[in-house]
Amino acid sequence: MGIAGHPEAANLTYLGLYALQHRGQESAGIVTRDGGENHIHKGMGLVAEIFSQPVLATLPGRIAIGHVRYSTAGESSLRNAMPFLASTGQSQIAVAHNGNLTNALAIRSELEGHGSIFQGTMDSEVFVHLFARARGTLEERLGDMCSRVRGAWSAVFLIDDVLVAARDPHGFRPLSLGRLGPAWVVASETCAFDLIGAVYERDVEPGEIVMIRRGRLRSVMPLPRAPERLCVFEHIYFARPDSLVFGASVYQTRKQLGRELAKAAPVRADMVVPVLDSGSVSALGYAEASGIPYENALIRNHYVRRTFIEPEQSIRMFGVRVKHNPIRELVAGKSLVVVEDSIVRGTTLNKLVTLFRGAGAREVHIRVSSPPNTGPCYYGIDTPKRADLIAANHSVEEIRRMIGADSLAYLSLEALRRIETQMKHGFCDACFSGDYIIPVDEVGTAEPQLPLFEPGDGAEPEPER
Ligand code: AMP
Repeated sequence: MGIAGHPEAANLTYLGLYALQHRGQESAGIVTRDGGENHIHKGMGLVAEIFSQPVLATLPGRIAIGHVRYSTAGESSLRNAMPFLASTGQSQIAVAHNGNLTNALAIRSELEGHGSIFQGTMDSEVFVHLFARARGTLEERLGDMCSRVRGAWSAVFLIDDVLVAARDPHGFRPLSLGRLGPAWVVASETCAFDLIGAVYERDVEPGEIVMIRRGRLRSVMPLPRAPERLCVFEHIYFARPDSLVFGASVYQTRKQLGRELAKAAPVRADMVVPVLDSGSVSALGYAEASGIPYENALIRNHYVRRTFIEPEQSIRMFGVRVKHNPIRELVAGKSLVVVEDSIVRGTTLNKLVTLFRGAGAREVHIRVSSPPNTGPCYYGIDTPKRADLIAANHSVEEIRRMIGADSLAYLSLEALRRIETQMKHGFCDACFSGDYIIPVDEVGTAEPQLPLFEPGDGAEPEPER
């Protein structure tokens, strides 16, 4: 998130980060600039825990950038929290990066060979070092820096008094540009604009660098053009349904995924049950197209943190029940179609099927509004390695048996691609298709990804049915 030309830059950035909290819950930070001086505050945890009115009062200025982090490279720690701020000779540069650089390790070892000293372990720090070594005008230095990095980057920079927004030539991750009166705003998703009353203008284009200085916007495209590869998983799972992502409504896309799924994989059932939150909109689409009533028969507790204190005497299915609980009165004796957006390791559905049966469901049919997830993402979505992806190692029938469902069907890759075509952009669906535009060799040099799920998730033995 970035804003330029507003007297309440830090406050509005804070609110924008609040709206973007779903994109990262590990750490958050804001950098502002006032009278030639930068101000920074970062912390571990959620935006609301890190920022208070007195903290925001220490962040004066009309220009700010902010970040919420979910780590895909480098450990989750304060030294890796963003924005990352550094001095380079005459300039001060701060960066907030969304995505994953695939050649960060190679650049890092090259720069360390030349004497650079890195403070953290995350990929985004290379931006700052590359900028520091580049020469020429601001535009030339930015072009130089951006031409060196590979992979996925939608980033905002605060370089002295200039707000910079830049997106890699494939455009993997989203980045939108908006206006709030005379001020300019950039954010990963338009839901941040809605909260602060800003108006969406357009996306920062793949390969574009936008520089905003004293209220004026200048745009350059210094990098060679490349095929568009917008992340389709943003639409399937990651983004908020009230956002426009890549110019299309996430809500409407999800609903269409559900409709297509109902057409391709119908089933006789009494009710459609979403796995909240991300499965809710595709479940609506499924219900609409199939004519089967939609019931919120699985309630989700929104206040579950990563760790909680379990009672000493073990409670059956505690780990899953603390988050999800079926409504027994609705599901007993009934046949359910449970709609989920994706299956990663299969742990969630394995447990949910057991919960539904325990609540008396007669049949549990699983429908997934994306194709089998067969490959890791190297471009900014944190997925486990291939060995842990259930669909990379098992057939659909095997998965059905493992999760204990009466039937299981996924959306086909062909159906997903029809929807991609309707959105009139080129998409990256490598996690489903294996079509990695940045060669996997090169990707193989990237830092290993952190586990998304706590080791031990799903490890409890399943009760006999
Ligand atoms: P699993 O239990 O491993 O099969 O994970 C599936 C669940 O994780 C689904 O509810 C998805 O909505 C969710 N999910 C999918 N991708 C991610 C991700 N990258 N980060 C967090 N959750 C995810």
